[in-house]
Amino acid sequence: MSLFGEVPQATPVAVFKLSNDFKEDPNPMKVNLGVGAYRTDEGQPWVLPVVKKVEKIIVADNSLNHEYLPILGLPEFRSSASKIALGEDSPAIQENRVGAVQCLGGTGALKMGAEFLRRWYNGNDNMKTPVYVSAPTWGRHAHWNDKTLTTAPKHSIFVLHACAHNPTGTDPTHVEWMQVAEVMKRRKLFVFFDSAYQGFASGCLDKDAWAVRYFVTQGFEMFCAQSFSKNFGLYNERVGNLTIVARDADNVRRVLSQMEKIVRVNWSNPPSQGARLVAITLNTAELFAEWKDNVKTMADRVLLMRASLQAKLQVLGTPGTWDHITQQIGMFSFTGLNPKQVEYMIKERSIYLMASGRINMCGLTTKNIDYVAESIHETVV
Ligand code: PMP
Repeated sequence: MSLFGEVPQATPVAVFKLSNDFKEDPNPMKVNLGVGAYRTDEGQPWVLPVVKKVEKIIVADNSLNHEYLPILGLPEFRSSASKIALGEDSPAIQENRVGAVQCLGGTGALKMGAEFLRRWYNGNDNMKTPVYVSAPTWGRHAHWNDKTLTTAPKHSIFVLHACAHNPTGTDPTHVEWMQVAEVMKRRKLFVFFDSAYQGFASGCLDKDAWAVRYFVTQGFEMFCAQSFSKNFGLYNERVGNLTIVARDADNVRRVLSQMEKIVRVNWSNPPSQGARLVAITLNTAELFAEWKDNVKTMADRVLLMRASLQAKLQVLGTPGTWDHITQQIGMFSFTGLNPKQVEYMIKERSIYLMASGRINMCGLTTKNIDYVAESIHETVV
């Protein structure tokens, strides 16, 4: 009998299983609309030109080595990453009450923040603090209805997607964000932003950070988990940052001292390559401008695919309204296809999408969009 004889087989992670099934599908027409990664119009992964440039700078720099980084990460990465979220002229940065921890992707930043809150948030009663994450919703409304916000126990933790909500592609309006902030302040709820698509919603980094910055102006102490996987195309480098906004420098200092303890027993020390790439880019004016341009290229291609898919479905006369495809923003679209229709798309058309009906708009190209539109039409009628 093995020591592991009692270990049950776990179900595969849905999105990665989908990619595997796609890989094994021999159909030459197959399309992968599953995993949330950018693809070019040739259906290929894209190494951002600015990243290629900075990679060369790093290789040529003889002063760099592979020593351990500081436990909280590369200082110039942490500060520049926080600046991207909060804005160059953020009052919180000027008042020296922002701290950051370099983490293993956005996921690592969420995990880091959660672990800190579990240990230290809300005194010793923390085990009872509820955490609210959004359920996928349909339609154009804030992901948190008034009822959830007003009935949640005081001090509850709310994870809010900063922009380009995954999977719905529907963000609250500015007015709705203001209402959310007002209720959260009144009910003393904790704001934990999840920012994984900055730049992808509008093509503009500042516009996409509006909600985060608004909450700062409203005096919230908060966390913001940032991922650079999508907007830098650095998926496998695991580049993330947890930005902490606190009342003053002293609070930040004590929080960071506890974050060090958490890093030490988790990954102990972060990887350097991705953080260097991002830091050099953000801290060099011409490279920063080039990156913004690269982000816009990606966002624009998504917009183009949205417009074309909607237009093609309209021309085909596919039953239903498809305006949501262009109204939704960011990388994803909630098509409205039900699980049965999704199964048909996969089995009969070799078009791979999540059971929820979510599609990655970047999987569409000028070459496969007709096939995808016709397949949706055939599935729906
Ligand atoms: N938050 C959201 C909303 C995401 O969609 C993702 C990536 N799918 C992440 C966080 C995590 O990103 P990373 O790959 O950097 O861990």
